[in-house]
Amino acid sequence: MEPHTHTLLNMCRASLPRNMIENSMFEEEPDVVDLAKDSTAFPALEPDEVVYEPRSSRLLVRGLGENDLDDEEEDYESSARLLGMSFINRSSTHNPSSSPYNRQAPPRLCSCPSARMLVVGVFILVLVASMAMALYFLPGCTFTKVGVCANSSTPMEPSYPNSTNGELFPWNEIRLPASVRPVNYDLSLTPNLTSMTFTGRTVINMTILHDTKRIVLHSSELIITKATFQDKSVEVKVLEYKPWQQIAVSFLEDLKVGQVCVLTLDYAANLSHTYDGFYNSSYNDKTGAKRVLAATQFEPQAARKAFPCFDEPAFKATFLVRITREPGYITLSNMPQAKTTTLPSGLLEDEFEQTGVNMSTYLVAFIVANFTSITRNVSNTLVSVYSVPEKKEHTHYALDTASTLLHFYNTFFHIDYPLRKLDLVAIPDFLAGAMENWGLITFRETSLLVGNQSSPLDKQLIANVVAHELAHQWFGNLVTMRWWNDLWLNEGFATYWQYTSLMTEFPQLDLGNVFLGVRFKALAKDSLNSSHPVSVSSQVTTPEQVSEMFDSVTYEKGASLLLMLKTTLPDGQFRKGLIKYLDKYRGSNTVTEDLWNSLTQVGQESVSDMMRTWTLQNGFPLVTVSRKGGHVTLTQEHFLLSADNATHTSNLWHIPVTYVNDSCSSAPSCRQIFTLRNKTATLNVSDSVKWLKFNYMNTGFYIVHYGDEGWATLIDALKTDINTLTPHDRASLIHNIFALSRLGRVSFRQVLNLLDYATNETETAPLTEALSQLSSVYRLLDKRQEQRLVARMKVYIWGHFGQLMDSQDWGEEESVSKQELRSVLLEMACSLGRQNCTDQATALFDQWTNSNQTKPIPGDLQRVVFSTAAQSDLRWLSLMEAYSSTTYDSEKRKILQALASTQDPQSIVWILSTGLEGGIIQTQELPLVISTMSDGFAGHLLVWDFVKENWDRIIEKFPVGSYPIQSIIKSTTSQFSTQTHLEEVQGFFSNLKERGSQMRSVQEALETIRLNQLWMDRNLPTLRIWL
Ligand SMILES: [Zn+2]
Repeated sequence: MEPHTHTLLNMCRASLPRNMIENSMFEEEPDVVDLAKDSTAFPALEPDEVVYEPRSSRLLVRGLGENDLDDEEEDYESSARLLGMSFINRSSTHNPSSSPYNRQAPPRLCSCPSARMLVVGVFILVLVASMAMALYFLPGCTFTKVGVCANSSTPMEPSYPNSTNGELFPWNEIRLPASVRPVNYDLSLTPNLTSMTFTGRTVINMTILHDTKRIVLHSSELIITKATFQDKSVEVKVLEYKPWQQIAVSFLEDLKVGQVCVLTLDYAANLSHTYDGFYNSSYNDKTGAKRVLAATQFEPQAARKAFPCFDEPAFKATFLVRITREPGYITLSNMPQAKTTTLPSGLLEDEFEQTGVNMSTYLVAFIVANFTSITRNVSNTLVSVYSVPEKKEHTHYALDTASTLLHFYNTFFHIDYPLRKLDLVAIPDFLAGAMENWGLITFRETSLLVGNQSSPLDKQLIANVVAHELAHQWFGNLVTMRWWNDLWLNEGFATYWQYTSLMTEFPQLDLGNVFLGVRFKALAKDSLNSSHPVSVSSQVTTPEQVSEMFDSVTYEKGASLLLMLKTTLPDGQFRKGLIKYLDKYRGSNTVTEDLWNSLTQVGQESVSDMMRTWTLQNGFPLVTVSRKGGHVTLTQEHFLLSADNATHTSNLWHIPVTYVNDSCSSAPSCRQIFTLRNKTATLNVSDSVKWLKFNYMNTGFYIVHYGDEGWATLIDALKTDINTLTPHDRASLIHNIFALSRLGRVSFRQVLNLLDYATNETETAPLTEALSQLSSVYRLLDKRQEQRLVARMKVYIWGHFGQLMDSQDWGEEESVSKQELRSVLLEMACSLGRQNCTDQATALFDQWTNSNQTKPIPGDLQRVVFSTAAQSDLRWLSLMEAYSSTTYDSEKRKILQALASTQDPQSIVWILSTGLEGGIIQTQELPLVISTMSDGFAGHLLVWDFVKENWDRIIEKFPVGSYPIQSIIKSTTSQFSTQTHLEEVQGFFSNLKERGSQMRSVQEALETIRLNQLWMDRNLPTLRIWL
């Protein structure tokens, strides 16, 4: 999933043993227990979820996370010992004496016999003269309502919750039991786009992996009207436990291992009014008439809102989908259409081919709409791009890009895309940027549609999203993470590939700078205490915790780590390892260690040893360099921004430290590498070396501090010859020194010293980094109402960059890199009121409106032109008119950003309430509106008030923990820097309780405000002197 598209630039565990079971969840080792949970929340396990194997005396344990076992520990002895530890941990809530894992007393799998069988059983026991045994069993065996026999003398009886109808629900964990495996779903859906409801029938074929008396699966907001088991004439009762979105069917007799079962469920539901599940969407066609459609968005946990299913990524199955529609609509699903049948009602039923591959439920998708498409055949796959009929002409670029990239990935991964068709569909109202459903990728219109006349920068955005989603067809769809804690295996890879595939296939799109910006962003997020490891070993179970995994660390740090690994390994090893990984695990699920093992097997280096230090602990290292002649000492520590100075960790990383020096500094062949494994190490260089620059091209995920002397020699070198370092290395120095200033290791004076070189800078990467850093300092001072400093900051910016700003051309520009640079320069110039800029922008805008929009504004300049125009009341109104009439999505979005940048309080309030309402401004755009307003002086307090006032309505639209909510919290609070605001934010969120107080983004917001406070305390005096 691509969570957002509006800002493209925008436990020490030294040695963790190999996960003992590497196979997919079901195929080879059914006798496992899922213990990958926080031990304190460890619920009582059911006997039928554990298989005791007396023959081999082994009790296999899956996914123990931090307690994973070594190979040599796989014997019964150590397993029992380890499980014993688990019991100690949970002994406060469960009496350990009844443990079924107790070595001396293996579990008694007590079934629930009928009364007659019970009598016979007792009789036999008596006959074999085992009176004592009978006395032991019989009086102790009582029967619960759900037919589970428990020994009343032992309090092992799990406490089951109550179902909706008051009966006990036969399962008490948020994760499903592993005793039943779905094999195939046969789905029939009948949506009604008038009443906005649908009915469905789901026939699930499954096999039993362990003897069990229940089938538990997911269902949310579905009314089950009928349920039958095996023979369709026999109805069964379905129990529902709503808090965990589960339903269950209980049986008196065991379903036996290996048995094949069929559960048929008929149900009805409303089409969702939010953005997930099977939801309704609408748009106005060119005549102004409202057209409705229905589409799906299931990732991460909303397939259960469209059909009852085993809605966890490891429960892969095949799917056959049928959808009923009215004539005049088309339907789409993952697979090609097989046939259409006319029903007696006059409705048509489309049936799709059964999926030939096993897939996770979150990748299922279907759409009912009146879309049209264009199509092309690429290596035996029919690639189509669908849109509303009015926008068909905007689909060509996406088709070209998807065709090229499909061919690229097919070749690169050595595995052909496995389906016969690939649809890319632009949905008028869609929350995420895009979603990689297998064979049916869905997009926001702004992420897929682009006019032929649009600028290369607009096309860059489309190419990015298409490249990301296509990469998922391998990383995510073909090979899927076993659980959401390893989401980075999907998203880190898709993010990595979106940049690297485009750098290879579309070098003119200049993705190198964008990827560098992404790594800087990931470092910023990961420097907070509230960050998390890329591969999370702590609990990720609730829907909120799962949603929160979709964040910058998972996507952007994941991608950054892959880049670092790729540039560290010998040529070709990364690719070979990935091909091996995809081939070995195709069709199944993996954990992070499976990836490292595949990469280790094709080379000499132990990838696992190095990468565990990067994926299992949060944060990243700061490498401090000190030099005495030829001896260079490198020291590593956790780069942790902390407001109280009390937080220290002993985290260590295996850092592939790269460096260049003054004799050879810009060509890739100059790069040398040194692995820093310990806290400190010494590197020897020639005495004649004048300076060293570490982290060549900033491909490593760490920050470097050169000490006063080291910085001084680098600054001198840059002042002498700017080209002595690559533009990415110059950007890296700028980024690092600002980060060190935030950490309190360098003064702001040193930051300004380095920036002095930048008056000669003309390259995009270092300039965009410098301007983005200065702009965030400027905004902090502005919000803090330090008006004198704000004015002096402006003078400083004009002094360093004013000339470059004024020299920018306002005509058409072909180079993407130059477009990026001039849009950043001019947006800053105009937003700070530089006359030359605002005059030019206003003139272009007036020309555009006076010519009835026939004299176009270059695409990369639209945002600055529109935003400047929006500051005048009259032009704001004409922009509003243009917003309602334009069909070009990228232009429309830029107009909306401009409208939202107004400083007029009434307009601000109107846009916010209209956005929340939906309609003229779609609700999907609310996070963009909020982040734009938060940057402005007038908007930032109004928007914070709005979020507080309307929190409940906002979380109705955007679920707690979701990316839009993370974005809203971040943009509304990240510029506060006073104690009053800190207390206010703290007070507001802590009162929310289950409506959001536990979110990681709230912790992040509070940390950020404290750090802003600290930065102000430290740097205001310096700024007053030096600016
Ligand atoms: Zn994705």
